[in-house]
Amino acid sequence: MKKTKTPAKKNALAYAPKNGYERISPAELKRCEEINKAYLEYIGKSKTEREAHDEAVVLLQAAGFTDMRINEKSGAKLKPGDKVYRSAEGKTLMAIVVGKKPLEAGMHIVGGHTDSPRIDLKQNPLYENSGLALLDTHYYGGIKKYQWVTIPLALHGVFVKPDGKTIKVNIGEDPGDPVLCITDLLPHLAADQYKKTIGEAIPGEGLDVVAGSIPSSEKDKKEKVKHNILSLLNKKYGVTEADFLSAELEIVPAAAPREAGLDRSMILAYGHDDRVCAWAGLKALLDLKGVPEYTSCVLLCDKEEVGSMGATGMASNLFENAASELLNLTSDTYSELTLKRMLHNSWMLSADVNALFDPMFPSVMEKRNSALLNHGVCVTKYTGARGKSGSSDASAEFMAHIRRIFDRDGVVWQTGELGKVDQGGGGTIAYLMARYGMQVVDCGVGLFSMHAPMELAGKLDIYMAYKGYLAFLKDGRK
Ligand code: MN
Ligand code: MN
Repeated sequence: MKKTKTPAKKNALAYAPKNGYERISPAELKRCEEINKAYLEYIGKSKTEREAHDEAVVLLQAAGFTDMRINEKSGAKLKPGDKVYRSAEGKTLMAIVVGKKPLEAGMHIVGGHTDSPRIDLKQNPLYENSGLALLDTHYYGGIKKYQWVTIPLALHGVFVKPDGKTIKVNIGEDPGDPVLCITDLLPHLAADQYKKTIGEAIPGEGLDVVAGSIPSSEKDKKEKVKHNILSLLNKKYGVTEADFLSAELEIVPAAAPREAGLDRSMILAYGHDDRVCAWAGLKALLDLKGVPEYTSCVLLCDKEEVGSMGATGMASNLFENAASELLNLTSDTYSELTLKRMLHNSWMLSADVNALFDPMFPSVMEKRNSALLNHGVCVTKYTGARGKSGSSDASAEFMAHIRRIFDRDGVVWQTGELGKVDQGGGGTIAYLMARYGMQVVDCGVGLFSMHAPMELAGKLDIYMAYKGYLAFLKDGRK
């Protein structure tokens, strides 16, 4: 039998994701390295939502973005091409490039979050026990508690004095700094601990941080070690024990982000979830050339890891209020109907991380519908748990549009669910924004060890997230 000729488009019938490194040119590989270098710089300085916010403001200002609240005060209108940002309490940030079309046509939004799982200090944290000063904690977000013991930890955050003065704290990042630590039980005496489940082995109240052990030289003091720590804090920051009452202090891994793998194809860092997508969105906005057709908006949100509640979370009216201000600044005839149309007509990439298929844990994933490392940015049509519960489930029509613009702009992308059906689940801010009737789909970087002190992400995936967000922001919906 005669051998049939290979069709011109090989595998045109079948679909299979490919390793992105096999699909990009040497010139693009260079760009991929540049993007990752810039990301390493950002993530290294952004260990809390406040720091991620402040570093983003530095980048925005350097690129000519100005504070939108100045316009809100003066009433000075915005025109196409204008670049502004709007901060909420120094935690949530919105950055905007005003497009050619009126706001009523909708915006193109890339929404990520910059809060990451961590361990917060309680409001009355400091105590002494057995000659040690300890800091009592309350963890934030979904952590596997056993991962946070015995590793070097840093203390970041703020004290706010009753007079309004804010004192920034950062201990454990400078090579000359001391670090903090949470202890674990030695294996020799862990017979009972070994019998517990992983979730019970380290209880929530067992995550107290060792802060010191030198007693104060002052006479007549009761808890001398605790007193000594208070004196040190007082000397360095001018704070007293009562100032913990109005503080937000976060315990985070002290390690710096690093290139990982013998081939340097990955980045190991604290807080990829979700600073990796938030930053990639921000970088795409910064690199946007010319005036986009639709107003481009990038969100760096707080509180996603605890359900987006609170004044700086997306479950609040924060976004809607900011959108109203923006609409008011770009038109002479503000109306609620126009606002509703603007929100309804907006499109959004919910820029959050997803789980990668991990060969160490194949049983929880369904391989054909899981994201693979460095196979591109992951588009997730629906998240949720069990029967897609809690998912916003993007439409096939919107998926088709994203597919078209990603393919058009050479974005290497893949699709992936968060694990096997009935294995667990998760969510993002997608459903909160979908409340307005806008088209939303999850799109972000796949991770290994999500929510661990150090998470692993692929460089090509980070680059493709940036490239995908850029393709989306500049898209004219044609
Ligand atoms: Mn996330
Ligand atoms: Mn998360």
